[in-house]
Amino acid sequence: MSLLRLEDINTFYGGIHALKGVSLEVNEGEIVTLIGSNGAGKSTTLKTISGQVKPKSGKIVYNGKDITNTPPHVTALTGIAHVPEGRRIFPRLTVKENLEMGAFSVRDKRVIEERMERVFHYFPRIKERLQQKGGTMSGGEQQMLAIGRALMMQPKLLMLDEPSMGLAPIIVEQIFEIIKELNEEGMTILLVEQNAFQALQIAHRGYVIQTGEIVMSGLGKELLVNEQVREAYLA
Ligand code: ATP
Repeated sequence: MSLLRLEDINTFYGGIHALKGVSLEVNEGEIVTLIGSNGAGKSTTLKTISGQVKPKSGKIVYNGKDITNTPPHVTALTGIAHVPEGRRIFPRLTVKENLEMGAFSVRDKRVIEERMERVFHYFPRIKERLQQKGGTMSGGEQQMLAIGRALMMQPKLLMLDEPSMGLAPIIVEQIFEIIKELNEEGMTILLVEQNAFQALQIAHRGYVIQTGEIVMSGLGKELLVNEQVREAYLA
């Protein structure tokens, strides 16, 4: 069943036509990856879905509802979590406070604690660092915290913008394992990556975006062996 559908989305930054008629679909229970080079429009796609950027035309349907032009705090409440590029955690807040911010809509302290326990299950390291300031964590730990904060919302759709960026291969490996585990437990995931090789390995399906246009789509394993994809993104 379709959870998210973009129909012919056009997004502009002033005169820059960043998304040129993007259509894509994410079904419930899938990991879908959007791959492409620098500046292709990957981040803009996620920002348009979460409502940070308004499309000029086109339609976004989530969970059967039209959410085009819905502001970010509302899309968050409907179950869309967006982990932005560059892991924007709150550097001056403690790790615990960062996690609590993720559950901003929850009043019940017990529910918050239960969700936090769930985050510790995926990221045991976070539990040892609760009182540390977010900004003093390593890059990998901050990425884990940024994902953990998103999980505090218990999202239906988790959107990750380049979670592997700037991280050591072993940490990337761990993060991709956790993405797989989250999906196996039922979470739908839209993963934006420049690291096409790793993304296509865990994704059920993938889309390739080039200068604002989707130029190819297919099963993750098909794209992984596709000649054009290999040449452009896996070289
Ligand atoms: P990267 O991995 O480098 O972030 P990307 O595929 O995510 O690349 P976007 O960030 O979505 O690409 O950018 C798409 C296009 O829109 C680029 O040409 C970029 O320069 C432009 N763009 C992005 N943000 C803005 C902005 N705030 N103002 C003007 N142009 C922008």
